[in-house]
Amino acid sequence: MSEAFDRLTAPFDPVAFVRGNLPWEGIVSTSALPRVAEAVVTASDLSWQVFPERTKEGRAASRFVVTGTLSLICPRCLEVVAWPVALERLVVWYRTAAAVPDEELEEADWDARVLDESVTLAELLEEELLLAWPQGPLHETCSLPGPAEAGAPFLPFSFLR
Ligand SMILES: [Zn+2]
Repeated sequence: MSEAFDRLTAPFDPVAFVRGNLPWEGIVSTSALPRVAEAVVTASDLSWQVFPERTKEGRAASRFVVTGTLSLICPRCLEVVAWPVALERLVVWYRTAAAVPDEELEEADWDARVLDESVTLAELLEEELLLAWPQGPLHETCSLPGPAEAGAPFLPFSFLR
């Protein structure tokens, strides 16, 4: 547990990680991820795994997997709703921003990152989580009538006119 915690808060070295060729895993509380902590109703634990990989070109890459359940507020009905987290994302590491080919930035299924940033695993997990964050209403059908279902505006005193 403490080993996993150190891995989360120490600067992440993706090249050494790929060289080590062993996956890492652990549990992180949302309270350790400040921007996620702000967006959830109650703190909960998430399971995380990172797998070392190499691209065809031999670049260091890390596959992030995060699973768990977060309690969020549905923006339409403002009720609490459980968001099942099932995130899997590949990050490919480049030495410089200039080394990232433009067309690769447009790829949707993986992220390009520059090696010379000092970033912790906790920060990386948080960023990947925020990129996957649900947009719009979280319920397919909200239990409370939202603006879309309310129909004509309610005018309580219209009969006085
Ligand atoms: Zn809702």
